[in-house]
Amino acid sequence: MIITFLGATKTVTGSFFVIETGNVRFAVDCGMFQGSKQLKEKNYSDFPIEPGSLQFVILTHAHIDHSGLIPKLCKEGFKGPIYTSPATAELCGIMFPDAGHIQETEVEMKNRKLSRAGKTLLEPIYTAEEALECLPQLQPLNYDEIRRVAPGVEVRLRDAGHILGSSIVELWVQENGQRAKVVFSGDLGQGGQPIVKDPTVVEGADYVIMESTYGNRLHKGTATRVEQLKKIIDDTMRRGGNLIIPSFAVERTQDILYDLSILQANGDLDPSIEIFIDSPLAIAETEIFQKSIDYYDQETMEILSSGRHPLKLPNLKFSRTREDSVELNNRLGNTIIISASGMADAGRIKYHLKYNLWRPESTVLFVGYQAMGTLGRRILDGEKMVTIHGDQLVVKADIQSIEAYSAHADQVGLLNWLKHFKPKPKTVFLVHGEEKAQPVLADLIQTEMNIPVLIPGWLDAFELTPQGVLVEGTMVQAHELPEHRAVEVNKALVAERKYLELRTRLNNLFQEKCDRALYDELIESLDKIAGNM
Ligand SMILES: [Zn+2]
Ligand SMILES: [Zn+2]
Repeated sequence: MIITFLGATKTVTGSFFVIETGNVRFAVDCGMFQGSKQLKEKNYSDFPIEPGSLQFVILTHAHIDHSGLIPKLCKEGFKGPIYTSPATAELCGIMFPDAGHIQETEVEMKNRKLSRAGKTLLEPIYTAEEALECLPQLQPLNYDEIRRVAPGVEVRLRDAGHILGSSIVELWVQENGQRAKVVFSGDLGQGGQPIVKDPTVVEGADYVIMESTYGNRLHKGTATRVEQLKKIIDDTMRRGGNLIIPSFAVERTQDILYDLSILQANGDLDPSIEIFIDSPLAIAETEIFQKSIDYYDQETMEILSSGRHPLKLPNLKFSRTREDSVELNNRLGNTIIISASGMADAGRIKYHLKYNLWRPESTVLFVGYQAMGTLGRRILDGEKMVTIHGDQLVVKADIQSIEAYSAHADQVGLLNWLKHFKPKPKTVFLVHGEEKAQPVLADLIQTEMNIPVLIPGWLDAFELTPQGVLVEGTMVQAHELPEHRAVEVNKALVAERKYLELRTRLNNLFQEKCDRALYDELIESLDKIAGNM
């Protein structure tokens, strides 16, 4: 079987992996790229493969960097089932149209500027309505159930303990009479988090494709997460400021509520402080969380049976409409605002930052991973001047972060999860990590566990055999793979990509010049060549 890495290579976003055997081609995840402009451009360009050629997709979890381009995939011809956990399917029902809506709003805003400047207008990657159209393709698959999804391909989802419904994917692929097992870690949770269970221990695999977000970091202060939050709230309220928390709508928002409810139950949170969730998505997700009791861990169940709901607080308000949100801009203190997106690069949070970043009495608290190039990362890295919606803002607010909220395993967590594989995998591929983090983790895995590690680049492809990884017929062993050599392994894919690229270029060219007859002639010959390949 051949695996091609189409995203989350040497970066954390855009997870998209394609596996093909002699008779089936399918994908694991199809996420959106976030961060730098250059990365985000990938969301707008054509997929490097023909979406209609995929028979099915397996989705690890609802986070946009894993799921966000699925509506585009469907819009451009993918018709097959999307296998995912029931909770993920339910979360996507809200997240897909929300992502479409965000794109429509942002493109509308950009287009106003572009049309004033007389430039070509943009189109959203997909609209809320288009996002709704792919929902019937979601096919819930329960944790721990083995399902035959194609001849010779079996899949089982295991709880990844990262967010509600998140999965590790176990795949068994039969080819030429031999069977190989491939495991995708998805995003792995940090053990001991509230609400969700710990990541499932997987006992063996030939190949592991593993996330490496915190491959070079350890989470500190896990035990005092609630205390850290209390101190930040106390300090901010004493100064008369607002506490602004950019938060992922799924899980993180609910984790914060969980801790706020602990503080409140202990009498450590002034009941006059008003707490707002300002994100229609987070509100909808919170409502799903409130009823998803099957997924709760033991501790959460105990709190529930004591008569307290850890996600319901008396001074918690949902700000649902745009007007509710705008109203919050007038608040000059005694307020906690939890809003999305978590990396502050889209959504309502940008307004709250605009009204609070320049106020020394306010605090901005980061509780999740901030990808390189996002507004969140720039603020967290200490930039003193940022631009939001074209306005320049000086950063005077107190900037804080609590890493213990991370929904990702840290270096020790990742290594521990991998240590359980017996027999050891033949190769581990590191994805979903930045260039600084990956070699650190790769070296540890290679030296401590004696497992060869590869760090694929974008569009790299590898042949996975029951004996080992082949590149151009040669067995590869370690992560010092010459750049781009791996791509050559899958010549058909390279040709397909070139074909799609040529088609797009022709399209663009003729949109400007518009010689219809010549265009048709060229496209016809191009398609003919492609048909003979
Ligand atoms: Zn995630
Ligand atoms: Zn992720």
